[in-house]
Amino acid sequence: MMNYVSAETLADAVRLQKETGYAFLAGGTDVYPALEHGWRPKGLLDISRLPELSGGIRAQGGWWVIPAMTTWAQVAQAQLPPQFDGLRAAAAEVGGRQIQNQGTVAGNICNASPAADGVTALIGLDARVVVAGAAGEHEVPLQEFVLGNRRTAARSGELVTSVKVPAASGPHGSSFSKHGSRRYLVISLVMTAAFIEADALGRVARCCIAVGACAPRSLRLVAAEARLTGMSLGQAAAFSLAGAELDVLTPIDDVRATAAFRRRMARELVERDIRSIALQLQSDRH
Ligand SMILES: Cc1cc2nc3c(=O)[nH]c(=O)nc-3n(C[C@H](O)[C@H](O)[C@H](O)COP(=O)(O)OP(=O)(O)OC[C@H]3O[C@@H](n4cnc5c(N)ncnc54)[C@H](O)[C@@H]3O)c2cc1C
Repeated sequence: MMNYVSAETLADAVRLQKETGYAFLAGGTDVYPALEHGWRPKGLLDISRLPELSGGIRAQGGWWVIPAMTTWAQVAQAQLPPQFDGLRAAAAEVGGRQIQNQGTVAGNICNASPAADGVTALIGLDARVVVAGAAGEHEVPLQEFVLGNRRTAARSGELVTSVKVPAASGPHGSSFSKHGSRRYLVISLVMTAAFIEADALGRVARCCIAVGACAPRSLRLVAAEARLTGMSLGQAAAFSLAGAELDVLTPIDDVRATAAFRRRMARELVERDIRSIALQLQSDRH
């Protein structure tokens, strides 16, 4: 039998974790399968009732704030600007409906799977993670928070309270693409996310390109982002990646796909993401 305790407030959760050393339990869609596969934490500390971790996605001082316990179903159904089209598409691809109703944004991040769809979509929005612990609260860029397979920068007893995305002010668009061995209900072989914000002259003012399942953690293609920034939307609509811009990726051969296939798919999906966003922004201007 597993030890279990439930927290009612954030302060409660921080204190109980320090006292017990139990693992946090949110929606449980990663925790329970891990228990089936032999993971044996000292116990489970249920954080699903903390008011500080829920309350809906909201705009706040130049940021969009996504509380930790927001489920993928809530993300998929939320009324949000086009900046979140990619994240909402990712939400609709996290397992099936039951998983989307139960699985949370912070759970996806803290589980730190290289194939976590939500992580790639959020890194593609330049998201930051808000972390709380006994020493108080601090923020970390998501791409620095996820360190590798099942490893995050959270120190002992720290939990994620929310994720923050810088709000776009100019014309913008976003995209998420997932490739698996079948269309639905599948672990990603490769997934990509992109975001472009344009200036008044129709040039790329800000952009993010993220690739998942091609390294121990999702990565941004910073060299490609630097080259794309400043391009006209017309140029971006014909964007091609240079070979070296994918060098940061270290895909592996496994039972699902070869490294060479993953690299080719990453290129294909990123180019499609960028071109489709740029084309849409260009047509919106006319
Ligand atoms: C059948 C099935 C299909 C799936 N399909 C997909 C898929 O297509 N794509 C995908 O990306 N994922 C998929 N998943 C994985 C899973 O559903 C997601 O990763 C989900 O978002 C996890 O959220 P959760 O709330 O259930 O996390 P939990 O299982 O509760 O927790 C996961 C981990 O995060 C920690 N944790 C949770 N919340 C916090 C917090 N606020 N602060 C600190 N630590 C925390 C827990 O201690 C645990 O280590 C699937 C899972 C199943 C069972």
